[in-house]
Amino acid sequence: MRHTNSSRLFAEACRVIPGGVNSPVRAFKSVGLEPVFYDRAKGSRVWDVDGNEYIDFVASWGPMILGHAPDEVLDAVREQLERGTSYGAPTEVEVRMAEAVVSAVPSVEMVRMVSSGTEATMSAIRLARGYTGREKFIKFDGNYHGHSDALLCAAGSGLVTLGIPGTPGVTASAIADTIVLPYNDLGAVSAVLAEVGEKVAAIILEPVAGNMGVVPPAEEYLAGLRALCDEYGVLLIFDEVITGFRVALGGAQERYGVMPDLTTLGKIIGGGFPVGAFGGKREIMEHLAPIGPVYQAGTLSGNPVAMIAGLALVDALSQPGVYDELERKGALLESGLRSAVRSAGIDAYLTRVGSMACMFFTAETVRDWKSASTCDTERYARYFTGMLDHGITIAPSQFEATFVGLAHSDADIIAMTDAAAEVLATLYDRRA
Ligand SMILES: *Cc1c(COP(=O)(O)O)cnc(C)c1O
Repeated sequence: MRHTNSSRLFAEACRVIPGGVNSPVRAFKSVGLEPVFYDRAKGSRVWDVDGNEYIDFVASWGPMILGHAPDEVLDAVREQLERGTSYGAPTEVEVRMAEAVVSAVPSVEMVRMVSSGTEATMSAIRLARGYTGREKFIKFDGNYHGHSDALLCAAGSGLVTLGIPGTPGVTASAIADTIVLPYNDLGAVSAVLAEVGEKVAAIILEPVAGNMGVVPPAEEYLAGLRALCDEYGVLLIFDEVITGFRVALGGAQERYGVMPDLTTLGKIIGGGFPVGAFGGKREIMEHLAPIGPVYQAGTLSGNPVAMIAGLALVDALSQPGVYDELERKGALLESGLRSAVRSAGIDAYLTRVGSMACMFFTAETVRDWKSASTCDTERYARYFTGMLDHGITIAPSQFEATFVGLAHSDADIIAMTDAAAEVLATLYDRRA
């Protein structure tokens, strides 16, 4: 496969864009390659600037659950474009979109639109602090909630209650009230709450972790967090930026039957445009400006083009049978990958929740960041490269999800798992 044009564009990009990309993981750094520049996409396929065709399992990191450029979204967007792209004034489509979210997501009674998942989680934390009058919050190691300062905090070594800045530029004071604990460990949460529970405003988590690979919640974990939050008057925030409209129409809260106080949304909700949202109980949401004291705003929030796209997508996902079909396609992918792993005779731990899946290159059971980080990322890099050569795109990082969507035919999924079987067989020598 030739990548001459990608290579030229990347060199040009590096002169004017740091690292040549506008979001780091796109750079293919962790798989030791230069990034592929895309030209167009339709359905399950993407084409790069050298004319190579791929079956795509990245789905723009989640949003393209209907496949790329779905007609129902394009038609809605075209119609809106003619009427203007932004007004800085309220529109009917914002009301319809809010109604659609409230009716789809079980715990959400009111919702506010923003322009990214980062804004959604940042604003939800601010609202939780403003509502409870408390300053601390708990997050989990290996969960990602966007790149706002207070949330870019890694677990410190040893002292679980003391986080360390996740990057230079985040000050110690910015994360002074962020507590980082291991995922899927209720005991750690209950110990911290017993100590400082009355100072904790919120617990924020990915109800199915999707940013350390795919790590499902342990049995009773979500319900256990809910009970602890009730006991200590702490707000439970589900960051459903990936899982919302993905693992069920109503997200992980619908799938697992545990209701958070606040929910953050992103990715799918924008139909391929930059949208985020946060919502929850009316009583909490009414603490937001202009009716409440907690300030939050956005010039392009509720942008009509993005809203019409998101609404068209959510409408399509609300049709009967959609999530059964996603489950079926997810299961087909999983069983194909399992047999690829078996026939290659390798150590891999596979996880799947609905249409999101992950193959961890480790012999361990992955349930938190500690176990996820035992993965052989160098092997993953070779797997990624082999898949790309077979015309299959997966995330250029071990710690991301593989997404199946409605546009993937069974043949697409089988082509993917057949490619995986071939690539895995070349990665391992069988002596061991
Ligand atoms: C992607 C992601 C975010 C951040 O969303 P952006 O739109 O990239 O700012 C937040 N939370 C989770 C769980 C995500 O996967």
